[in-house]
Order: sequence, then structure tokens, then C-alpha cells
Amino acid sequence: MTLIDGKAIAQQVRAEVRDEVAAWVAQGHEPPGLATVLVGDDAASAIYVGGKQKASNEVGIRPFDLRLPQDASHDEVRATIHELNANPAVNGILLQLPTPPQVDGPALTTEIDPRKDVDGLTPISTGLLSKGLPGLRPCTPSGCMELLRRHDVQLEGAEAVVVGRSDLVGKPISAMLLAANATVTTCHSRTRDLAEVCRRADVLIAAVGVPELIKGDWIKEGAVVIDVGMNRTPEKLAGDVEFDSAVERASLITPVPGGVGPMTIAMLLRNTLEAAKAAA
Ligand code: NAP
Repeated sequence: MTLIDGKAIAQQVRAEVRDEVAAWVAQGHEPPGLATVLVGDDAASAIYVGGKQKASNEVGIRPFDLRLPQDASHDEVRATIHELNANPAVNGILLQLPTPPQVDGPALTTEIDPRKDVDGLTPISTGLLSKGLPGLRPCTPSGCMELLRRHDVQLEGAEAVVVGRSDLVGKPISAMLLAANATVTTCHSRTRDLAEVCRRADVLIAAVGVPELIKGDWIKEGAVVIDVGMNRTPEKLAGDVEFDSAVERASLITPVPGGVGPMTIAMLLRNTLEAAKAAA
């Protein structure tokens, strides 16, 4: 059994992005720009935004840090997004969710210019992914694919089972695995006999949000297991897979933490660079 070291792979991706940004700027281009929009003073959101700003700086991406007060109106936030859409120095826009109740954050997300949709979650980006056309892909599922790629996991013809069908993770990773020619089954809360379906998987992706739902004996001998779950329990940060028993059967598995988690920001930086190149 080999552990997939998401922290190390995320560092590699970040180093590659940093080198590519430096080469891009050396060719005479403006540095890529990533704008974060934070409405209100939610402490956790401020930490997430701060992390993205810091990660941008580290790879030479120019951060634009937009902060609006807790009582900002929907129209004010909307105007900010449209200004960023029109600003050529900005290649990526993130609206930090959740927003205060008077602001419909999910609706505003759909107004981000698809060419700057570095979260890859607008309906246009979803449509491009679904049709197999070039576009910006959601960061967490891209991060899972990158982990598989860097470990040379054979996807063509493989049985892939995805547990979870959220717009954020389950659906896009199912589409990405399908694009990589895996045979994909997407499971959800109404799936009958989840254990049996999981036992078919050569590649099992867990994106459920239920601590240790997936038991070790649901895992086929030699399967590759990617655990997206991040569930805070009183004892620890738990994945969606019962890690201690899963390691007995998996050939490759991500730990939680230190597996998928660190990949999300790395892929966000990559998306921002790609968006800058596409814009030029
Ligand atoms: P979500 O929107 O709550 O979706 C959960 C999915 O799991 C739903 O499709 C749901 O089915 C399904 N589900 C729930 N209980 C189930 C059960 N008992 N059996 C089978 N399926 C079940 O969650 P999400 O946003 O996709 O996130 C999933 C997990 O990944 C969470 O732990 C989250 O914290 C983590 N996450 C991590 C990262 C990261 O590492 N950077 C990023 C995003 C999310 P229905 O559709 O039928 O309700």
C-alpha cells in the first residue's frame, strides 16, 4: 500500500505554477491576477481568503483583495463583480461563500465572466466540462485527477465509483473520470446497496461528508481510494473512508488530512495562470 502525499504533490504543482508564472512575466506579460471578494466579517471565510491571497503571492500571481461590509447590498456586490469582469489585470474571480443573507452569493457566482471562473463552478464551465470542451475546471476534482495522474493510475477502462453527486465535487469528478475513459458509477443517498457498488471499484472516490461511512471491507483488493471528505468530529478531522481498515486493501490511498485537501488551492493557482494565458 502506498500513501498519496497530497501535501508534497500540491507543493510540486505550486512550484511548477511559480516557474511558469515567472517565465510568462519574463516574456513581457503582466502577472496573472486573482481577485477574492469577501463580504462581511465571518472569521473562517477571512482565513480562507487570506490563504488564497498568500498562496497567490508566493507564486507571483497578483492578488486583488476586495472586502465589502457585512451590510453591503446585493447590488453593491454585483457591481464589484462586474468591475472585476471588466478589469483586464484580473484573470480570476472568487466570491467567497457563504455571503450575508441579503446577498444571493450563488446567483452572483453565475455572473462571473466564465473566462475568469477559476472555481470552475458557473453553468458555462459546467457545460464545457460536460461537453469535453476546453474550459476552467473545478479545483477540488481537478486536484483529485492530478493525484491520480501523478501516480500513473490507469483510468482507461477502469471501474470508477464516485460516492456523492454534489455540483462541487461528485458531479464534476464523475465527468472528468468519464472523459478519461473510465466506466463511471455515481452514487448518492438513494443508492441501493452502496457497499456492493463500492466493491466493484478499481478507483473509488468518496465525496460524501459522512465521517468514515465507507468501510474497509467495501474496498476491492488493490483499489485506488481518493477520500475527499473533511469531517470535523470531536476527536479528529475524519475522512469519508474508514482509513485504518481501508489501508489493508487499497493499493493507493489518500490520508485525511494531507491528501486531497492541499490540492484545491494548488489547482486554483494553476487555473488562474491558465485563465491569464487564455486571455492573452
Ligand atoms: P455535499 O454537497 O453535502 O454532497 C454530499 C453528497 O453525498 C450528496 O450527493 C449526497 O447524496 C451524498 N450522500 C450523503 N449521505 C450519503 C450516504 N449515506 N450514502 C451515499 N451518499 C450519501 O458535500 P460536498 O460539498 O460534495 O463535500 C463532500 C465532502 O468533501 C465533505 O466532507 C466536504 O467537507 C469535503 N470537501 C473537501 C474539499 C477539499 O478537500 N478541498 C472540497 C470540497 C468538499 P444526495 O445528493 O442524494 O443528497
